[in-house]
Amino acid sequence: MLNPLSPTAAVQRPSTAQSQAWMERARINLLQNYKQQPLVLERGQGTRVWDADGREYLDLLGGIATLPFGHCHPEITAAVKAQLDKLWHVSNVFYSEPQIALAEKLLLASGLDRAFFCNSGAEANEALLKLARKTQKERGQKERVEFICFERSFHGRTLATVTATGQPKYQQGFEPLLPGVLHVPYGDLAAVRRAMGPRTAAVLVEPIQGEGGVRPAPEGFLRALRALCDEAGALLLVDEVQTGLGRTGRMFGFQHAGIRPDGFSLAKGLGNGLPIGAMVCTEEAGRALVPGTHGSTFGGNPVTAAAALATVTLAMEPSVLASVRTKGEYFLTGLRRLAAELPGQVVDARGQGLLIGVELAVDAGPVVGRMREQGVLSNLAGERTVRFAPAYTVTDEEMDRGILALRRALAAPPPG
Ligand SMILES: *Cc1c(COP(=O)(O)O)cnc(C)c1O
Repeated sequence: MLNPLSPTAAVQRPSTAQSQAWMERARINLLQNYKQQPLVLERGQGTRVWDADGREYLDLLGGIATLPFGHCHPEITAAVKAQLDKLWHVSNVFYSEPQIALAEKLLLASGLDRAFFCNSGAEANEALLKLARKTQKERGQKERVEFICFERSFHGRTLATVTATGQPKYQQGFEPLLPGVLHVPYGDLAAVRRAMGPRTAAVLVEPIQGEGGVRPAPEGFLRALRALCDEAGALLLVDEVQTGLGRTGRMFGFQHAGIRPDGFSLAKGLGNGLPIGAMVCTEEAGRALVPGTHGSTFGGNPVTAAAALATVTLAMEPSVLASVRTKGEYFLTGLRRLAAELPGQVVDARGQGLLIGVELAVDAGPVVGRMREQGVLSNLAGERTVRFAPAYTVTDEEMDRGILALRRALAAPPPG
């Protein structure tokens, strides 16, 4: 197996025949809706993946924050295999054990009261939006139908969640969008206050804007939103799809602010790579969704719930969250050092825990490509930000290798 970082790799020019053949079949057959990196991945273990021609890569993107414990984690794999031999699916016409046990863990970890399961982040946010409108109706506030969302946010691709998303590029061509969604600048409390009124059902916010360029909320913002929502009679909904499950060094991003939202969403990291989403809410809000009002055929499926139960169990180990914080600081410190050395090329390095963005002065696409050629995987969050969201098992040496690959991709010689 060739290591793309080894000096011989370039000389030997390993074959890319298998990968090329697969990509050609993809080009002919798949909907061309993704800007995909030219890599066909076949196998993964921990923080490493291998392509169809056997080349090894260090995966510092982790399926876009979907793999808190890395590829094919032995305990999670064992839990899923055991469930595969037991029961695959029954629908929510019946109860199934992994879903109930998973709900208990999420409530214990969050301090909220009710969990609903679905299959993706968009569906979890869709459930939050429906929850808010229904809760306001139950309160007798039937005029409260509007949502306050933020510019540069990302909440999903369904019509309601793409409307909530504060980025026109995701909305163009799909109009008319959902009425009653207002967008204000992220972190601008005065703008939220101005937008808030007798028609506001809820505020929907990410603790860190992930797709919008890995932008953490300003200090105190979530706490102030909580107070503002309480004052105004609006619900506070937190989109934890990217930030949840320990990614920021706390189990949920809102816990850094010490607040209790009325509801929050989860998906990406929840199943360590299997598709499962969740909407978690308070008792009062939960009461609004009585039998028949909302549902999902596959939501909380025994196999994906077993994966999530094993993932959440691992994430709830206090040493895990502490190591996410320590490693995140190590990575960010190294990236900030690089930023300080290359002020003309790197604008900012920011993030929390192991969700980190490096904003460049130039288009980040070619830089991500040059890192990949050195065997290190990342992606773009926005046009100019390189995103890292590695497994919590990432080592200091691996993070150093990421920083070195970024340095070389920016065509800067290593120090010393
Ligand atoms: C990825 C993401 C979503 C959408 O999740 P899907 O599973 O792709 O539907 C929603 N909100 C945030 C913050 C995300 O990062």
